[in-house]
Amino acid sequence: MSIHELDIGDVIEKINELKADIVGLQFPEGLKVHAIKVAKQIELGTGATVIISADPCYGACDVADVDMGDSVDVIVHFGHRPLPIDYDLPVIFVDARSNIDLLGCIGSAMGFLEGYNKIGLVTTTQHLHLLDEVADFLEQNGKKILINEGAGTTKGQVLGCNFSAIKDIDADAFLYVGSGNFHALGIKLFTHKPVVVADPYLGDAREIDEFADRILRIRSARIAKAMEAERFGIIVSSKRGQSRLELAKNLKNMIKEEGKEGFILFLDDVSPNLLLPFTELDAFVMTACPRIAIDDSKMYKKPLLTPQELEILFKRRKWEDYEIDEIKYTR
Ligand code: SF4
Repeated sequence: MSIHELDIGDVIEKINELKADIVGLQFPEGLKVHAIKVAKQIELGTGATVIISADPCYGACDVADVDMGDSVDVIVHFGHRPLPIDYDLPVIFVDARSNIDLLGCIGSAMGFLEGYNKIGLVTTTQHLHLLDEVADFLEQNGKKILINEGAGTTKGQVLGCNFSAIKDIDADAFLYVGSGNFHALGIKLFTHKPVVVADPYLGDAREIDEFADRILRIRSARIAKAMEAERFGIIVSSKRGQSRLELAKNLKNMIKEEGKEGFILFLDDVSPNLLLPFTELDAFVMTACPRIAIDDSKMYKKPLLTPQELEILFKRRKWEDYEIDEIKYTR
């Protein structure tokens, strides 16, 4: 089954222990191709009826307990580790471990890490089981490796919206093991230190600095475009793991103190089309997933800012103190 391993035997055992009659399954987009095969296995192994959530799923912030809670006895959520969030019904989290080789791309990363001694090492859920192996390799090659546990996340794990695992790491540079620029960009904006991506799917490594500079230039332009805004839409998510109503209320007060108007908008899946009817609003502030404003910026016609960018707009924070927005956990 592709490069991802899903431990279905363990899931069947847990479902049987719970004596569940109806089981909800939830997969992120990349794993949905396995949904039917997994559903068949679970129905055979438990005798339960399976319902597959076909809605998009972005992370452990987005467990379908609110949507499916009345219809199922348990939810099996694939591909993400649990966050410290209270759910309405039992949720079984299943890692999707990737068995792709990591050491090839780590070898390539060594060139980019030359001159740096203390390296902060991080990855995402699917490679966490191989992180010690990567650390050993780097230490054998003369690096001092620093790996920490975050609040709400596992040792060495970063999310696109949570960097607590690297908060207290005093590294010369960070090495992110994984694909794409999404997490590496977050690490760069959080630490402002050199970040190297070791990408096992491409089998090579790269620096993220140039890409991050380009994103920061776009963010600066979006803030400048919001200068004339008088009315702001403050977006709040109904997803349990993204919902920050208190923050939204504080932002509404801040906007009022600046002599402008703020209106709280409550959404499930945030998308540009859903904001189009609000023609009287000049700009938006995002309290849902912190990455929507940064990564999907081009899709939105009107400026869409993070809370920290709103502070910069109102001169309550200096541009030099730019911070990526995070969803923080205390446990
Ligand atoms: S809030 Fe956004 S970045 Fe954070 S886990 Fe959810 S989808 Fe990922």
